[in-house]
Amino acid sequence: MAEANFKPIKKTSVEKMEVKPNLDLEESYKDFDWESLYKQLDWLPGGGLNKAHEAIDRHANGDKRDKIAMIWEGKNGEREDYTFGDMQRLTNKFANILQSLGIQKGDRVFIFMDRLPELYIAFFGALKAGAVVGPLFSAFGPEPVRDRMQDSGAKVLVTQPDLRRKIAEIIPELFDLQHILIVNKDSRDPAPIDPQDLSYHEEMDKASEDFTTVVTGQYDYSIMHYTSGTTGKPKGAVHRHQAVVQQMATGRWALDLHDDDIYWCTADPGWVTGTSYGMLAPWTNGVTQLIYEGGFSASRWYEQIQKHKVTVWYTAPTAIRMLMKAGEEVPTRFDLSSLRYMCSVGEPLNPEAVVWGDDVFGMPFHDNWWQTETGAIMCANYPSMEVRPGSMGKPIPGVQLAIVDEDFNEVPDGEDGNLVVKPGWPSMFHGYWNNAEMYNSRFRKGWYITGDTARKDSDGYFWFVGRADDVINTAGHLVGPFEVESALIEHPAVAEAGVIGKPDEIAMEIVKAFVSLKDGYEESTKLRNEIMRFAREKLSTAIAPREIDFIPSLPKTRSGKIMRRLLKARELGLPEGDTSTLEDD
Ligand code: AMP
Repeated sequence: MAEANFKPIKKTSVEKMEVKPNLDLEESYKDFDWESLYKQLDWLPGGGLNKAHEAIDRHANGDKRDKIAMIWEGKNGEREDYTFGDMQRLTNKFANILQSLGIQKGDRVFIFMDRLPELYIAFFGALKAGAVVGPLFSAFGPEPVRDRMQDSGAKVLVTQPDLRRKIAEIIPELFDLQHILIVNKDSRDPAPIDPQDLSYHEEMDKASEDFTTVVTGQYDYSIMHYTSGTTGKPKGAVHRHQAVVQQMATGRWALDLHDDDIYWCTADPGWVTGTSYGMLAPWTNGVTQLIYEGGFSASRWYEQIQKHKVTVWYTAPTAIRMLMKAGEEVPTRFDLSSLRYMCSVGEPLNPEAVVWGDDVFGMPFHDNWWQTETGAIMCANYPSMEVRPGSMGKPIPGVQLAIVDEDFNEVPDGEDGNLVVKPGWPSMFHGYWNNAEMYNSRFRKGWYITGDTARKDSDGYFWFVGRADDVINTAGHLVGPFEVESALIEHPAVAEAGVIGKPDEIAMEIVKAFVSLKDGYEESTKLRNEIMRFAREKLSTAIAPREIDFIPSLPKTRSGKIMRRLLKARELGLPEGDTSTLEDD
């Protein structure tokens, strides 16, 4: 990152905010302990802890009962408002449905839906029933859904008619699945519900509004998100109920949420930002949030801010770069004066984007860093400090980050190294489902290994450098090359496939595949397009390769592993590095 080229941005947003920032960072570092924050949670009678109680019931039982929790705008402009009281009533009903279906504490309930209000109701209802919830990105094709649901052994799937049809072929392969609940929002879908499935709306009509949240403890599992690694299929990172304390605290510190805010997080709950910050951080703080079902469009997004008077906005670098591309004239058509604080996460936020935010909105985007495994923000630019464009800021109070070399010795300031975290932060993941070995491999010599490389400057600001592995970050979504390669080789013409991240101006990286063909198949544009379509249908447009090159054979190590590093070096015209393990042709 070119830190030297950009002047720090003073605390302009603080002047605009007209509210005192929630965190004085330097003061908070002194004698910090999580205890005082744990005490701010409501807890269940008898000392249990449940995320749904902290996000919904504590407000519904108090003076925020009639405050709007969720403003929902549908893709066709529909609007629905839900108070904390409504959310309590509806999530209680959903929890009753699950209990009547025999769902018990620890059972997995998966949700495969667009951003509809019912997604949020099912999510918190399932938490109240003691289940472990797994939200899935609705753009997924059948294979990612099958892999995740098989691995987790989910008993219930909550989905909608079109998505149910999309994955029909894999349903018989989900051996643990007992029930499918179909949400046919506003009867959008004319086809009748399969008689084997249950209608969400019919079941909700019958269910009681009274429910006593199942007593979960702070260490009980609550949410799982599948995330990609370099090898193997995605792994289910499991989080505990106690993660809520850090989600609540960082909502205040890094997103600067205040009581009167209207908050908009553009992330989908299929990814961790969409749950930790599209559900838990705002609602544990009793803040009203906007959920917009529609997809990206510069003018529609600005329109959302104007219409709903959004004050705090949390989005991602790819989206910001797309807004920049749409031009500076577009935001001038809207009244965006409600905005007072803007944040970004998921990929490196280029310094130009921070400065652009300052020019166009009168305030910078505040970058923060975290990952699925960390469960909550770990490092951030706060309203109370100078923003250094291109930096991910400083660690949150109570979290220790370090930059270490291969022997886990801290490197001097200004030098690149591996970004590691001292284990024990409250929202730390507590396992990869069914994969203790992989989980343990992430901890060495008293550190959690993030897989990122970074550096720290002499003032304690952290700067992202890159990934230490082959995982691809495309538009803020991590993609494991193995998952894509596995789908590609299912195509009858493909003998082998190697997948890399190719740098891209907007999406940071795009997924690029190299394939070799089986004997009897000829390279052609038609075949390339067919393989591309095949991958998109199996995986999703978010994961499938955007480019495919045919090559006669893939470079492999002597033990047969595809050398993605070499494919990437060749693609980028970079030195090939150590090729001593390369297989002889
Ligand atoms: P995920 O687990 O899908 O949320 O992805 C986490 C990964 O995204 C991190 O390990 C980083 O590689 C990348 N990432 C997240 N936030 C940032 C950021 N602010 N700057 C640079 N990279 C980021």
